[in-house]
Amino acid sequence: MSLKDPTLLRQAALVGGRWIEADPETAIAVKNPATGELVGYVPKLGAAETKEAIAAAEKAQKDWAGRTAKERSTVLRKWFELMMANQDDLGRILTMEQGKPLAEAKGEIAYGASFIEWFAEEARRVYGDIMPGHQKDKRILVMKQPIGVVAAITPWNFPNAMITRKAGPAFAAGCAMVLKPASQTPFSAIAIALLAERAGLPAGLFSVITGSAAAIGAEMTANPTVRKLTFTGSTEIGAELYRQSAPTIKKLGLELGGNAPFIVFDDADLDAAVEGALIAKFRNNGQTCVCANRIYAQDGIYDAFAEKLAAAVGKLKTGNGFDEGVILGPLIDSAALAKVEEHVSDAVAKGGRVVQGGKRHALGGTFYEATVIADVTPEMAVAREETFGPVAPLFRFTDEADVIAQANDTEFGLASYFYAKDLARVFRVAEALEYGMVGVNTGLISTAEAPFGGVKLSGLGREGSKYGIEEFTEIKYVCLGGI
Ligand code: ADP
Repeated sequence: MSLKDPTLLRQAALVGGRWIEADPETAIAVKNPATGELVGYVPKLGAAETKEAIAAAEKAQKDWAGRTAKERSTVLRKWFELMMANQDDLGRILTMEQGKPLAEAKGEIAYGASFIEWFAEEARRVYGDIMPGHQKDKRILVMKQPIGVVAAITPWNFPNAMITRKAGPAFAAGCAMVLKPASQTPFSAIAIALLAERAGLPAGLFSVITGSAAAIGAEMTANPTVRKLTFTGSTEIGAELYRQSAPTIKKLGLELGGNAPFIVFDDADLDAAVEGALIAKFRNNGQTCVCANRIYAQDGIYDAFAEKLAAAVGKLKTGNGFDEGVILGPLIDSAALAKVEEHVSDAVAKGGRVVQGGKRHALGGTFYEATVIADVTPEMAVAREETFGPVAPLFRFTDEADVIAQANDTEFGLASYFYAKDLARVFRVAEALEYGMVGVNTGLISTAEAPFGGVKLSGLGREGSKYGIEEFTEIKYVCLGGI
């Protein structure tokens, strides 16, 4: 695969400013999920290197926090510009290791870079307060200071943006970061670390450690120098990291699983709802934590909506992300494929009706057909678990209160969506959905300007927006007496 700048595909990890090259004998092999071909190797590191990186981060952070916000902002701005200047190459690396179509991968680079741009701007707006005092001779000052060394663990579904959404605010606030990217997609992380170095981020401030998740995670959570752990991934691992972080009382940022409802009311614009469902359900081949997992259509429009959706889904082309016109790539691995197959066969066994797709794709590998299943009921696995694949299950409902109850009947609470025109209904439903995010008449809600995050088992904290940077600061109260 030809890159304009081949040095961006670097087979190494960055530990405290020191590059450690991969030795193929002991390294982790990264494969292209569309073809099974080797992309390259990254070193298999563990606790010792994590400890080294944390110590280097502690040192580098002091100097970084001592710079002016504008100085930090300038470095971040440069980093953003380098990402955009290398958008093509970063997109190619991403498609190679993750499988998503090249256009979508380049879109992720722009989206990922936008967090660096946004937080370069926010760096200069970390304001404190002066509050009315409780005694005549006293004044109350509140300042916000960087939390210190941050550990980050990120997933494979957005190999660029899930890192920048954490690194942008961390560096803007004056923190240092030690990152463990997903082993399926480390090259995107390494490439952005290289660009950070070129942008002038000081050595040791940002480490990228590839290797054993359990060993790296154990050191990150046990090490008292790490004051915050920010994680995006499964609820199961998030809960484990939460538990491991308890003895050192770390601040936690957790972006975990979802089970998003997508509700289409009788008064919705059906074509818009179909378009929104395609984005909310099939983006990244259904492998996002905000993907619509359960689609509820009201009686009056159920059949028309099902028909329109099936027709639109039938036109989505599945294939290698580098091929022209491909909209859906492969699933990340065979375990993901097995889960999708299980959910479809469980739905069919319990009375679900496949109206589009419904089986492995003729391309083989981990490709699965874009699928629509009608007549889905709450007893089916698709109703309770995140499918994380290209399967749209359609539930029928009659009553607004009933669909809200069904939508909220889950342990998760990340994204939710609904389509309706009646203004009173729009407010009622938006307020009643127990989710961190609600898309009304849209299937695409993520952006650097808005707070992303969930409630219940979907996590803690918010990323992006003016709130995202607060997560990387501590509040200090200074009581000024003797005035
Ligand atoms: P996904 O379903 O997205 O793969 P995971 O929660 O398994 O979700 O993985 C998300 C990230 O967490 C990845 O970087 C993975 O390597 C990491 N991870 C998995 N297990 C552990 C663990 N025990 N400790 C720390 N990190 C882990």
